[in-house]
Amino acid sequence: MTGGAERGILWIISAPSGAGKTSLARALVAATPQLRSSVSYTTRPPRPGEAEGADYHFVSMEAFTAMAERGEFLEYARVHGNGYGTSEPWVKSQLFAGTDCLLEIDWQGARQVRERLPGQAVSIFILPPSVAALAERLRGRGQDSETVIARRLAAAREELLHYDEFDYLVVNDHFQDALADLQSIVHAEHLRLGYQQHAQHQRLKNLLGINS
Ligand code: 5GP
Repeated sequence: MTGGAERGILWIISAPSGAGKTSLARALVAATPQLRSSVSYTTRPPRPGEAEGADYHFVSMEAFTAMAERGEFLEYARVHGNGYGTSEPWVKSQLFAGTDCLLEIDWQGARQVRERLPGQAVSIFILPPSVAALAERLRGRGQDSETVIARRLAAAREELLHYDEFDYLVVNDHFQDALADLQSIVHAEHLRLGYQQHAQHQRLKNLLGINS
């Protein structure tokens, strides 16, 4: 052991579509060394401006199903009629290297990760300030039809029902305040006993006079 943390922290951020999760997650990753975002696999087509390998790995339903059958997903779920999944080998390699890993996934995926890796993930749910703000943000994207928006508002309510399965709740009313909340959570989690026992291994050994 080198004295550095051997395991990174696995982070889950969930929110109803339109709560501003993606922008917050991006800003959090940009502001946090040692935190990387997992790029999910999806069967949905790219939106304008989205890039393969950066926003998602865009794959066919056949390729997605084959990955699921080979057990390559840490979790996967159907959201808004499309398949979404997280690569297990990628996540595990990051965590093993001591890098924190951020999953932006829905409540079904969050539940699967908690079941697969009990006690290992820290999960955060982002709340929009109000239904009106949520509807406004969904419309503000301007990339989806009214039918899609109405479907997403209904799905948002479904996602919100699961808020109490998460460790932390953050309200995204003012972006900078919500980002500061996320940074506080990340900071505090790195000071927890379980993490510090690894991160401060050498220091603890020295302080306790252990020579092995
Ligand atoms: P969008 O298509 O708008 O990018 O994402 C739709 C929903 O799918 C969001 O709630 C997002 O968090 C969720 N999602 C994205 N990637 C994954 C994933 O790998 N697994 C699961 N379970 N959900 C995901």
